[in-house]
Amino acid sequence: MIVMKFGGTSLGTAERFTHTAAIVKQELERKPVVVVSAVGGMTDLLLLAGEEALQKDLAPTQEEPQYTRTLKKIYQVHEKILTDLHLPIELFLIFYEELSEIYRGIYLLKELTARTKDLTASFGERISARILAACLCRIGINARAIDSWDCGFITSNEFGAARLLSDSPEKIKKIVSSLDFLPVTTGFIGKSREGNITTLGRGGSDLSASLIGAAVQAEVIEIWTDVSGIMTSDPRLVPNAKTLASMSFQEAAELSFFGAKILHPKTIEPAVKSKIPVLVKNSFKPEDPGTLILSENMKTQGLIAVTLKKEVVCVNLYSTGMLEAPGFLSRVFEIFKKHGISIDVVATSEVNISLTLDHPDGLEKAEAELSEFAEVHVEKDRAIICLVGEDLKRTPGIAGKVFKILGDANINIEMISQGASQINLTFVVKSSDGEKAVRALHRKFFEKVDFSEDYEFKESVF
Ligand code: ADP
Ligand code: ASP
Ligand code: MG
Repeated sequence: MIVMKFGGTSLGTAERFTHTAAIVKQELERKPVVVVSAVGGMTDLLLLAGEEALQKDLAPTQEEPQYTRTLKKIYQVHEKILTDLHLPIELFLIFYEELSEIYRGIYLLKELTARTKDLTASFGERISARILAACLCRIGINARAIDSWDCGFITSNEFGAARLLSDSPEKIKKIVSSLDFLPVTTGFIGKSREGNITTLGRGGSDLSASLIGAAVQAEVIEIWTDVSGIMTSDPRLVPNAKTLASMSFQEAAELSFFGAKILHPKTIEPAVKSKIPVLVKNSFKPEDPGTLILSENMKTQGLIAVTLKKEVVCVNLYSTGMLEAPGFLSRVFEIFKKHGISIDVVATSEVNISLTLDHPDGLEKAEAELSEFAEVHVEKDRAIICLVGEDLKRTPGIAGKVFKILGDANINIEMISQGASQINLTFVVKSSDGEKAVRALHRKFFEKVDFSEDYEFKESVF
């Protein structure tokens, strides 16, 4: 059995659906379990309509509430795909009525809970699974759409960040192996025991694929996207980025955690536990070999990537009492935990701790509590840059080179940290410097420019 996950980038138009179906057809002998995301951009639209429905009632000049326009767009995108595929619009209409009613409810009540957000977002995957299954049937494959919960994908009730329950893998395995059709299931979403639809968090269908892959003990978990694998940097940012042939689980985990959007940060965990290789492939160029992420004895060389994570908040705490006060750090972490804030990077000195946070929700309350025993400075608009690679463990002086490269580019490093894994070097700069910094580092470390003077470029990684 193999898991084939197709992201929104592989499901944006009728043509992409047709290509995706053809890719699946090539692999029938390996018994694929197909996992899909919503049509590209659809989750954003579904969430946007919810936010818009919360806005004030109609102004006298307005003919219809804003959310209904977004809903029309949602309709049109699916209608165009289905018409171009010569598939019946009913595949979409069976969901549309319910979806319209939910938005109307939000509009009337002016209430949008995390639970309702997950519910609205879930329609994207539910619809795209039906469309892909119909495309597969049309080319003679006995495929059927099946919502993840009908495959046993039962989660906690943590809306927006749901976790698979511990007894679910066993159920998934049992159900999936008993199916007499090729399943096209919904990534990103699940259902709780209480019957609520949940989501795993944005970009979560990679994680769904990996969880399902681990449950069914797949031979490989394939992540099909719009680039030919994991690259030395985001190609949208660095056009010269190169595709990596392979990398270790740990490297993949580090780079996805620090901003490489290509994989959801938690994707690797279930694969590591079950020792299942992950293969990242390009649905636009299926002939390209892709990037293979493997567990054991991976001897990748060199630095493998530089990533950028934008819109990060940085919190600096100063307290002269820090050194003498045992438990100071745990007190700080407790406060963030209490307010549901997760911390990405930490750097400490005797009188200062700097932390970066993924999102600022709940920060004001945490700030008030922290101010009781420390001076708190919050800096918004920061970016985390992360260099990843086994070489950070064994090559001295890389940090020095980073300082020089960024100094020459007039970029100030505000915080620096080397993770416990020692394969990442992470630092914080102003958001406005983020892209420039990534390009400068990529040029020096990954492109054959001035390498005699700087880092020894290693061809063997690619
Ligand atoms: P999907 O819809 O298939 O899940 P995503 O948009 O989530 O696709 O992820 C693919 C995108 O990730 C690519 O188009 C690319 O711009 C971006 N990306 C960011 N960092 C990297 C990287 N290091 N290597 C490859 N792609 C990256
Ligand atoms: N459709 C979801 C999102 O846009 C999940 C995913 O694409 O992985 O976040
Ligand atoms: Mg994605």
